[in-house]
Amino acid sequence: MTDPTVRCERCDRPYPAELPGCPNCRRIRQTNIAIATTMILLVLFAIGGWFGIQVFTGFSTGGTP
Ligand SMILES: [Zn+2]
Repeated sequence: MTDPTVRCERCDRPYPAELPGCPNCRRIRQTNIAIATTMILLVLFAIGGWFGIQVFTGFSTGGTP
């Protein structure tokens, strides 16, 4: 009885056919998703911080000329 293996088209590595996808590429994809999520969070924090600074400076300096 031989366990069927499937060769990955991306990284050309054999992996068990019982897995839904190549574990190597899936790990890379998860890492990419984690990096993308971190980048999005950083951008959101930057925009939020910039907006907060604009509101703060607007309140402190723009109120009374
Ligand atoms: Zn792969």
